[in-house]
Order: sequence, then structure tokens, then C-alpha cells
Amino acid sequence: MKTMIVDALILGAGPAGLAAASALGRARRHVLIIADSEYRNRASHAMHGVLACEGMNPIDFLTRSQQQLTALYPSIRLESDTVQRAARIGTPESPAFEIETATGAVYQGRRLILATGAIDELPTEIAGFATCWPDHLPPLSTYHVHLALRARCFNDRVIVYTDGLLYTEVQRCEAEKLFAPALAQGVTLQHTPISRLEPLPVEKGPGVHVYLEGGKSERVDFLVYKTLTRPASAHLATQLGLQISEIPGQGSVIACKEPTGATSVPGLFVCGDAGSPIKGVAPAMAQGLCVADVVWGGLLEEDKS
Ligand SMILES: Cc1cc2nc3c(=O)[nH]c(=O)nc-3n(C[C@H](O)[C@H](O)[C@H](O)COP(=O)(O)OP(=O)(O)OC[C@H]3O[C@@H](n4cnc5c(N)ncnc54)[C@H](O)[C@@H]3O)c2cc1C
Repeated sequence: MKTMIVDALILGAGPAGLAAASALGRARRHVLIIADSEYRNRASHAMHGVLACEGMNPIDFLTRSQQQLTALYPSIRLESDTVQRAARIGTPESPAFEIETATGAVYQGRRLILATGAIDELPTEIAGFATCWPDHLPPLSTYHVHLALRARCFNDRVIVYTDGLLYTEVQRCEAEKLFAPALAQGVTLQHTPISRLEPLPVEKGPGVHVYLEGGKSERVDFLVYKTLTRPASAHLATQLGLQISEIPGQGSVIACKEPTGATSVPGLFVCGDAGSPIKGVAPAMAQGLCVADVVWGGLLEEDKS
């Protein structure tokens, strides 16, 4: 069993963790990143919304970023492992943390940054869903009504599948009130549950055949899924004494303050999808940078005293 003490332990090597590491590495702080390869967008083939990297494969983006950081900053080390246990071992004035990995390695750090991302909760009861995800069925986190209105900008025919979740007439009336702005724009609601999804052959585009209970089916040119997400490392957050906050219609996040990522535990920070309802590569990087700045400032303060 080996023990190593660093300035900051960063769990996760996605955009959030790597951005935090980059700022701390530039400040010549000793950083250890521990991560497995469960990036949220690992099944996607093209990344959007990141300037100069439009359409880039997300894994190529992360691999290149990791290589660049470890080559440029000798104080950054990256270990491939899964963290299973995390504990507080310091005091509020001089915080410290200890983690243990699946391979039995133990590490200690003066600060701990959870950049462990989120997990999408996908329905298991719809046949074909897994085959369509995510190339034929990308995730979107916008609220349903806004999503329907946005989709209407691209297509005349927009259908919202409620998947039979609105069982009663009252619930359906409520939904119709909620969706009124979208219905006024020609959007329709389909309450019959989906029984099966079948992707069109790749050469025919991203379309999907939607089969409804009762036998009716229709072809749609583009289908998106409103995901609920939960923190990938909820167990570690709980071991460290952090709360998990529910966000109606979105899932849950590890409770922290934005934009500093500070938590109720001194020295413990959260960034990226793990702690924010605003989920995306660029927001995760921005949050990682903010956290690193606060961590660096805190270390300087502590070293003075
Ligand atoms: C299908 C799909 C497509 C997407 N496309 C886009 C897009 O085009 N543009 C965009 O901006 N956003 C996109 N997103 C969202 C984007 O993937 C996330 O917002 C972004 O990856 C968040 O970065 P992160 O660093 O917080 O988490 P992640 O990238 O998920 O990284 C989490 C890291 O933590 C590690 N980890 C977790 N638990 C542990 C543990 N216990 N021990 C060790 N390591 C651990 C993981 O292995 C990984 O290294 C997409 C999401 C999905 C699902």
C-alpha cells in the first residue's frame, strides 16, 4: 500500500477535472488526478459547443488534453483507477483528505476536488432504447416546453412523447396548460406509451421509427431524450458528509456553491456535471477553473499562517 500527499487530489479526468488541474499545474501545485474512463459523453462521436473543437471526438479531445497537461506541467500526475473510499483526515483550519482506490492505493491531499461527472438515467422498459442512444437519441437537458419551442424553429412537425406518464385526464389537462405556448405553435402531444424504438440505417440519417403501444408506428427525423442525471460519485459525497440536492425535472447534484464549487466541508470542492444543473463541456471547464482559483488562494492563505 502506497501513500502520497499532494496539494490537491482531483477525482475525475473529464473537462472539469482537467481544467482544474491545468490551473493548479500552472501554479506549480502538486496535483494528482485519479480517474477511470467513465466519461459521460464516451458513447458520443462528435462534440459540439466547444470553440475550435466543433465536431471533435470527445475521447480524442480528452486524451489530447491529458497528454498536453502532463507534458507541460511536471507537478501534475494522472493515475488510472477507481476511487472507492474517501475520508476527511484534517481539521477545518488545515483540511486534508484520504482516498482509497479499487487497486488498494491510498492517497492523501490537502484539498479534494470531486470532478466525477454525472450518470444519465435511461429508461429500461423501452425496447431498442439502448441501441438508439446516443447517436439516434441524443440527450438534452432543457425543460420540455422550451425544448419543444426550440425544436419548432427547425421543423414544422414536433411531437412531445409523454410516454404515458400522464395517466389521468386531470394530468393531461395540466400538461396541455403547461405546453400551451408550444401547442399554439403547432407542437402536438402524444400520450400513448412508446413500446419500441428502431434506428433507421445510418445512411438514411439520424431518424428513428417509433412504435407505440397498440401497434401504431411513425418515423421521426430526429428524436431527443430529456434525461434525468445523478452524480456518479454520490457514494463518495455521502462518505465525506455532503448532501445530495434534488432538482425538480433534472435529477440530483452534489450540494455545492456555484461558481466557487465550495461545499459544507472546508477544503472539499465540486465542479462540472457532479455539482451543477448546467451541464456541458465548456461549463464544466469554466467551473473547474473557478474551483482551482479558490483552491490555490486557500492554499496560499494556509501556507502563510
Ligand atoms: C451522449 C452525450 C453527448 C454529449 N454531447 C455534448 C456535446 O456535444 N457538447 C457538450 O458541451 N456537452 C455534451 N455532453 C455533456 C458532457 O459530456 C458533460 O457535460 C461533460 O462531460 C461534463 O464534464 P465533467 O468533467 O463534469 O464529467 P465527465 O466528463 O463525465 O468526467 C467524469 C470523470 O470522473 C471519473 N470518475 C467518476 N467516478 C469516479 C470514481 N469513483 N473514481 C475515479 N474516477 C471517477 C470518470 O471516469 C471521468 O474521468 C454530452 C453528454 C452525453 C451523455
